[in-house]
Amino acid sequence: MELRSKRIDATELRGIVRIASDATYAGNVIANAEDVRTLKDGTHVVRFSLRVRSSREKGAHKSPRGRRTVSACWHAHRDIMREIFRHDPDAFVGSMMARYEGELSFLARFPATYYRNAGSMARPIHYGALCECGTYGPRHPERSTDVEPNDLPQRSEFGACR
Ligand SMILES: [Zn+2]
Repeated sequence: MELRSKRIDATELRGIVRIASDATYAGNVIANAEDVRTLKDGTHVVRFSLRVRSSREKGAHKSPRGRRTVSACWHAHRDIMREIFRHDPDAFVGSMMARYEGELSFLARFPATYYRNAGSMARPIHYGALCECGTYGPRHPERSTDVEPNDLPQRSEFGACR
């Protein structure tokens, strides 16, 4: 994915991911991030991806056939991007799935990505449901069921950094 931000460079992004990961994923979600360049107006261009340490723990994405992977799941992407936009509401984040030009764009467009078909025409499966979050063990009893996309926070919850 690509991040463009005047406030967040690769080092800062790794810090943001670490804090969000520790808070919600017991540290399982990690980031690869590198500074690509800085534009004349001071915008940092950062290439990054989200991964997990353990494919068996919360935040790990599964393949449509149920195989474990070290990719990060939809919820992990949601929670990390939430933090990115909390630090910089004007950030741009682009991925294969979508482009978010600022926090409002993210809030409006991210929920729908849950329903992307990651399976086949014959056996459709929601991209957002392919993970370990819903079946995670005793350390996260509060997440005993899958988290629906609509529980993105209300906009007021983002107020602190504005
Ligand atoms: Zn998940």
